Amino acid sequence: MAVREILIHPDDRLREICKPVSFPLSDDVKQIIKDMADTMYDAPGVGLAAPQIGVSLQIAVTDTVWRSSEVRHDPDNPGGSRELKVWINPEFLWKSDEMATWEEGCLSVPETFADVTRPAAVRLRWFDMEGEAHEQDFDGFPAVALQHEFDHLLGKLFIDYLSPLKRKMITKKMKKLYK
Ligand SMILES: [Zn+2]
Repeated sequence: MAVREILIHPDDRLREICKPVSFPLSDDVKQIIKDMADTMYDAPGVGLAAPQIGVSLQIAVTDTVWRSSEVRHDPDNPGGSRELKVWINPEFLWKSDEMATWEEGCLSVPETFADVTRPAAVRLRWFDMEGEAHEQDFDGFPAVALQHEFDHLLGKLFIDYLSPLKRKMITKKMKKLYK
């Protein structure tokens, strides 16, 4: 298990546009994906994108089942049931006109939560670790989590959706807490 350091906003590496991954995956990239999962579960978080550990590649991991704290803290099942998903070179093929607002947080912006409004449903194409392409529709929490994670691959954070003043206050708080 290799838990990596999670970069905290503001950090220029969180603002890079990530490069696509080529197949077959190299051993290095396989190790990065493993480390991303370990880091996400250790944090704990429901999603982590490669730039959050300083890797500028189009990879994210999520576990939106494990999100439930009842599952996570079940004493009979330490660690909880897991549903690790690996998303490589993801691309949205469609986003709904209908919008939904969810409270979001981010491992790179600790202890900060804010409402963000995004398309309620999305159609996604992505590749798995074997290089197979997949296409699927998502709504509800998974749709939010995926849009949040894939924003990271474009150098975008959820606080970018907030007012400039609010963003400035958050940035100031992060600099104070994590310098
Ligand atoms: Zn995030």
